Amino acid sequence: MSLTEETLLKGIGVSPGIVIGPARVLIPDVSRVSSRAIEADEVSHEQKRFRMALKETRAQLVHIRKQVAEVLDEEHARIFDAHMLVVEDELLVSEVEKAVEVERTNVEPLLQRIALSYADKLAGLEDQYLAGRATDIRDVTRRILANLAEEAVESLRDIESPCVLVSTDLLPSDTAGLDTKKVQAFITDLGSANSHTAIMARALNVPAVVGLRSATAAVHPDDLLLVDGAKGVVFIRPSEARLADYAERSRHQAVIRQELDLLRDKPPETLDGYHVPLTANIELLEELEGVDAGGAKGIGLYRTEFLFLGSDSLPDEDEQTAAYIKAAQSQYPAPVVIRTLDLGADKMPDSMERRREMNPFLGLRAIRLCLDRPELFCVQLRAILRASVHENVRLMYPMVTGVAEVKEANALLHQCMNELTEKGIPFNREIEVGTMIEVPSAALVADKIAPHVRFFSLGTNDLIQYSMAVDRGNEDVAHLYQPTNLAVIRLIDHVVKVCRRFGLWSTICGQMASTPHLVPLLVGLGVDELSVSPVQAPLIKDVIRKLYYADAVELAQRALISDTSEEVEAHCVNMIVDVAPEVLALTE
Ligand code: PEP
Ligand code: MG
Repeated sequence: MSLTEETLLKGIGVSPGIVIGPARVLIPDVSRVSSRAIEADEVSHEQKRFRMALKETRAQLVHIRKQVAEVLDEEHARIFDAHMLVVEDELLVSEVEKAVEVERTNVEPLLQRIALSYADKLAGLEDQYLAGRATDIRDVTRRILANLAEEAVESLRDIESPCVLVSTDLLPSDTAGLDTKKVQAFITDLGSANSHTAIMARALNVPAVVGLRSATAAVHPDDLLLVDGAKGVVFIRPSEARLADYAERSRHQAVIRQELDLLRDKPPETLDGYHVPLTANIELLEELEGVDAGGAKGIGLYRTEFLFLGSDSLPDEDEQTAAYIKAAQSQYPAPVVIRTLDLGADKMPDSMERRREMNPFLGLRAIRLCLDRPELFCVQLRAILRASVHENVRLMYPMVTGVAEVKEANALLHQCMNELTEKGIPFNREIEVGTMIEVPSAALVADKIAPHVRFFSLGTNDLIQYSMAVDRGNEDVAHLYQPTNLAVIRLIDHVVKVCRRFGLWSTICGQMASTPHLVPLLVGLGVDELSVSPVQAPLIKDVIRKLYYADAVELAQRALISDTSEEVEAHCVNMIVDVAPEVLALTE
């Protein structure tokens, strides 16, 4: 390949935006530490040097944690508590010290070998959460090695001119230290959409593409890069034609975005007057601002487990109450649906012990974990109840599979109500309770669950995964993950009909609702509300406002008798081409 030829890399877009800039390649070079034999009388000196480097590293981490808490928030800062645990891991430290004594070698190669073997073992695990801890170990090891070498760890804040950062795996501490005026985007070989780094990128609003596999090998320093964070693609040394195309695309997108911003206060209503309330999905409280800016009203899904992730202690009842009240107040009087913990599978906080599971997504996840640990669940239920003095608060259970779980969860809820009453703590006894429908069994027995709840929220991310037996995070089977599969459409249709029969409210909060070309289909199936990611809200509102409800119903009827997913996709895309082609310019 010539050094002037354009090269395309495809990865996972985790933070949207188009950026063109020179590459700054940063490969933490912990691979080249040199090894030297030491004398017996040098052993204690070498061990002391190691302890000093650990102390220095600990001090740096305390400093970074403080900075992150100031610049971002406490939730993000807690990530560095996990790093601190590595420095304070006595097993690791004593293994390295013992190796210095036994092998009579300087500490650097021993630390590297031992720490990285821990990291490699973790990285090899299927459990995405534990695999993510490998990144923490590598990050901290790099830092300790740099301190042993008495070099300052390269600070990304020292980058002097605007660039696109290229790295094997940009670590959470690196991301937190980014000067976003200089680092205009970043791309990495490794990473997933749910990593701490991805969360940080979105929180900082830095376009990012991860999981590119070969970015550090393919990009040369100062290569010009074009990053498209929405599509998850990177062009190395983009051609003149590509640059011209993207410059035009950026201009065009900016104009469209400006026009869509004007919809902020307009109702999400079809041309023939059918109202489809648009609410938002949030994971972090700082996303609340974006909810109003995007034109959604209320929260259809607050993924509360993100309060727990990256923390070395579980948020107590008061902390949780404060977070839920903040969300409720920000949206009042629009509803705020607080989903109880969906921990387990890929989302497990450091602070919780758990047994290794063969199939974590089919294991002790969400409501199952909460019913297994009622002491944990009840703290959250009481916190939500306490926040329910703001009467817009609603409560929702995730990953319900049938009526028994709902009854058991409701019994605990009533027990918590009684506890609060005894203590004279106010709450809303009429709080609306709903369940997610994200497991086919729950969809099929929705009529049995309906009498126990007030609303259903269809979590299509999991509903597709569980009905089609396709791991939602596995690239190798991504082609089988089909939102427009007839099985999925029938399940949605069935649940909506049950809702109508029982007078329940239906929402879709899975990614399908944030996907513009699928919106007419969902509206046509009769879903009452769409809960979408805040940045997508303007696009979704635009589609709703350009649509005739009658056409959407016709599309849904056609989908319900279609043979293939491709056929339905084609009908959906054609409708968008007809009614709102401008949104395609933002997503394609
Ligand atoms: C879903 O499964 O569609 C959903 C909204 O829940 P989560 O993505 O948090 O699993
Ligand atoms: Mg889900």
